[in-house]
Amino acid sequence: MKNSKLKVDAYKMGYYQDNLCTNCHQNKIEDLLHYFFQCPKYNIQRNSLLQKIKSLAKLKNMSYKSILQIVICNNADNIIQKNEFIYLLKSIKKYTTQTQRFE
Ligand SMILES: [Zn+2]
Repeated sequence: MKNSKLKVDAYKMGYYQDNLCTNCHQNKIEDLLHYFFQCPKYNIQRNSLLQKIKSLAKLKNMSYKSILQIVICNNADNIIQKNEFIYLLKSIKKYTTQTQRFE
């Protein structure tokens, strides 16, 4: 996820003039937090993702930033069990597929 196709990264690579999200036109930087948890364009897909996240008791009250850290760092040790971590990764993957952001 270091060099994603999100504009925050594509901008750094020189592909765009800015790093703002063009899916919602709210002048927000399109970073992981925006894409997964804030961009209104994906509200419908996000409902399903949030339901799955909330079904994991340990993540229920965790900040979105902390949840992203778990996913990015691939480090769920001592936080959630391995099967829960896999469930989280699958849920994230399903979200990215459903939003079609990277097609
Ligand atoms: Zn947006």
